[in-house]
Amino acid sequence: MKGDKIIDTINSPFLRRGVGGEAKKKIAILGSTGSIGTQALEVIEEHADKFQVEVLTANSNAELLIAQAIKFKPNAVVIVDETKFKEVSETLWKYDIKTYTGTAALAQVVEMKEIDIVLTALVGYAGLLPTINAIKAKKNIALANKETLVVAGELITKLARENGVAILPIDSEHGAIFQCLVGEFQNKIEKIYLTASGGPFRGKQKSELATITKEQALKHPNWTMGAKITIDSATLMNKGFEVIEAKWLFNLKSSQIDVIVHPQSIIHSMVQFEDGSMKAQMGLPDMKLPIQYALSFPFRFSSKSKRFNFIDHPQLTFEKPDTETFFNLSLAYQALEKGGNLACVLNAANEITVQAFLNDKIKFLEIAKINQKCMQQITFIKTPAYEDYVFTDAETRKYAKSLIY
Ligand code: NAD
Ligand code: MG
Repeated sequence: MKGDKIIDTINSPFLRRGVGGEAKKKIAILGSTGSIGTQALEVIEEHADKFQVEVLTANSNAELLIAQAIKFKPNAVVIVDETKFKEVSETLWKYDIKTYTGTAALAQVVEMKEIDIVLTALVGYAGLLPTINAIKAKKNIALANKETLVVAGELITKLARENGVAILPIDSEHGAIFQCLVGEFQNKIEKIYLTASGGPFRGKQKSELATITKEQALKHPNWTMGAKITIDSATLMNKGFEVIEAKWLFNLKSSQIDVIVHPQSIIHSMVQFEDGSMKAQMGLPDMKLPIQYALSFPFRFSSKSKRFNFIDHPQLTFEKPDTETFFNLSLAYQALEKGGNLACVLNAANEITVQAFLNDKIKFLEIAKINQKCMQQITFIKTPAYEDYVFTDAETRKYAKSLIY
């Protein structure tokens, strides 16, 4: 078993562009106003000689999108929220920046001829169609939007192979595994270990979690991220999604993917090869490193990020995840083992339950319970096509809402 989906493009002349005085790599950032999007722009600003922003998109934060566009001068921007279009277009026409609005525009803008890499930093199912279109247009993908691989990993990786594009992981764990695999693409992976911080409620019993508030759940111990992934980290859904993401990125079976809780978040993940040797990638928690590596691969560029010091971290500890209390992680393994549209169901249910929790409509422990109920109720489709994912997503959302509202 090799990471062959990534190796295929390791020697691609495309990936060498932007280095040694050649043309800059032209980047489209979907979700530029979010946590990953803004950090990606910091990376690009630090390496303005290597990268150029071609497209920026946001859901509704017009003010920040406008400020980013004026600073980075992309060719085009998309504001998905149509009520914000006037504000964006009236400001940006003076700068000769094309402006578009709506979900159809988001899905189409990735096809622009000039784009080399599409960085998917938007959140949730909304990433699926733009990613499919980008792959069909032969754009390499720097993937932060893990939900796309959770929903339709089989379809996405098949399309990537057919179109000869690379999917370069930005998620810190997958970025770590990818770094461990460079130079090892011909070698068999025995197992990978995805590290998990355990989130803000590590060590807590179910009874203590019953009255958790969203304010408590939104305080992650090691990472500052968007609201949805922060709640997913507190319920371990995020780690479950990362197990599924790893399966598709690195072509693994569920038995080859282990989760280990490592509260300090210094080891970002590990690979064990068939000779028993293990490689780990380490550093202080900082998403700018995996973002930059996904854009600079196969090269490394300089970074001003704070360096790790062993003496400041004399103890790195490890423990088993509590999959009974945080059973979203078990649900993800079940979805992975059964396959078909089950992970798509889990993702759609979770988008509804997380939003309902953030709107004070359900309690913390109900998130996983409703997710599980959706997995039991929604019609199973063994070999889904794109239309089946669309149908499954809509059906699941409707059913999950009927349990809540
Ligand atoms: P965020 O909420 O901070 O930002 C989301 C971005 O997506 C914003 O720019 C928003 O305008 C856009 N967006 C939201 N809904 C949209 C929609 N329906 N259509 C189009 N655009 C929409 O989220 P984030 O923390 O930056 O996470 C982005 C993705 O990266 C998620 O899939 C997350 O799981 C993944 N990720 C994030 C981190 C992190 O450190 N933040 C780490 C690993 C992976
Ligand atoms: Mg992660």
